[in-house]
Amino acid sequence: MYDVKGHLHEVLDSLPQGVRLVAISKYHPNEYIEAAYAEGQRVFGESHEQELRQKHESLPKDIEWHFIGHLQTNKVKYIAPYVTMIQAVDSIRLLREINKQAERSGRVIKVLLELHIAEESTKYGLTLDACRELLEAGEWRQMQYVRICGLMMMASFVDDPDQIRREMQTARDFYDEVKAKYFDEDDAFCERSWGMSEDYPIALDTGSTMVRIGTAIFGPRVY
Ligand SMILES: *Cc1c(COP(=O)(O)O)cnc(C)c1O
Repeated sequence: MYDVKGHLHEVLDSLPQGVRLVAISKYHPNEYIEAAYAEGQRVFGESHEQELRQKHESLPKDIEWHFIGHLQTNKVKYIAPYVTMIQAVDSIRLLREINKQAERSGRVIKVLLELHIAEESTKYGLTLDACRELLEAGEWRQMQYVRICGLMMMASFVDDPDQIRREMQTARDFYDEVKAKYFDEDDAFCERSWGMSEDYPIALDTGSTMVRIGTAIFGPRVY
């Protein structure tokens, strides 16, 4: 089997205190997750509802599952009973649905707002202006079953580290803006989720609190 243990510790050793690792296990089998679990890793991220459901059912119940992919509103009900955090909220519609399904499950679900900063048109997420509008409109303040814990973004998939750094710094500056304006008194709003296998060193430089790393721990994905 792939040396999950060794790679996991390499990644963990490179993270400063206060930065959390979400081990992105999509497309990897349960035994890989179990290998990381045996080393104490408890936070895992998945991006497909069915795959997450199967893994949640068959793996230890103290795993904290984060949904990191694009989530269709009609899938929220399947993950609401157990998911800890939904990382990529990109519309008020989705936020409403999460609130509704969380209430049905008697839970509070943590969410991040996903920013679209990358130049690629394929990436999901709210533009900075759309995110400002969503927060300014204030409907989220009435939602008792979701807790907005911060922002998430993916940098462009490019080789140019300066561009990646610029995009992450934009996210960092935007975080400071909305933290001051809407969440100053809210200690739960504290997460900046950026950084993947290829770019997480830059993410650490730009104030990431939560890195989402798959390949560097589990090896290449077989689709
Ligand atoms: C797959 C994925 C990751 C992890 O990517 P790696 O390059 O394997 O580290 C991080 N974030 C999101 C949103 C993903 O879909």
